[in-house]
Amino acid sequence: MTELLFREDGYLRSCDARVMDVDERGIKLDRTVFYPTGGGQPGDTGLLRLSSGRSIAIIDTLRGAGSDEVIHVPETGSALPEPGTELVAEIDWERRHRLMRMHTCLHLLCSVVPGAVTGGQVSDGRGRLDFDVPGSSLDKAAIASRLNALITEGHPVDPRWITDDELAAQPELVRTMSVKPPSGTGRVRLMEVAGVDLQPCGGTHVRNTREIGPVVVTKIESKGKQNRRVILAFAE
Ligand SMILES: [Zn+2]
Repeated sequence: MTELLFREDGYLRSCDARVMDVDERGIKLDRTVFYPTGGGQPGDTGLLRLSSGRSIAIIDTLRGAGSDEVIHVPETGSALPEPGTELVAEIDWERRHRLMRMHTCLHLLCSVVPGAVTGGQVSDGRGRLDFDVPGSSLDKAAIASRLNALITEGHPVDPRWITDDELAAQPELVRTMSVKPPSGTGRVRLMEVAGVDLQPCGGTHVRNTREIGPVVVTKIESKGKQNRRVILAFAE
């Protein structure tokens, strides 16, 4: 079990940690600030700094078999640390912050476009959601204008926890059909964009929509009869 520090505070850039296990997939720590690929958000990159002064470059972070198992994938050819080694785990903050901004923006997009979300993906500087919108056409300019209004309005973004049973009683909270909410531990983490969006989400988010900055809708693609893919990018 790894203590998932990013879950309580997405702004943590580094932490002290101890190596628990090392195998061909990568390095497991007792605690980490590295977000593992999941829920449409890519895994973090960064460094594991050893007390000797040497660093191990982490090129990806993956989820292991258990729900709280995080695998730090080292650059090929890295000399690996022994279990028990104390180190400092440090993410590439600039990249993660862009991912947090775009991820949070997809919550806004969810509220702007009607229809069920059938898929989504955040990448560095871009993001997309696929919507099931039978018979409707989506307007690029209108969506961009609504998104940028919500961004500049400065809505607070906060986590909230509910029990699995409370979530089961409110299935309408699950907007994203392709992304299962993180559950099974008895409680589920909801992300609330005050007055805009509330849904289960295990990703990392900015604290206020203003932090997202201006965005553009770069493209709306047809993906089948009633599926529309809305693609966003940062305006600057
Ligand atoms: Zn989210």
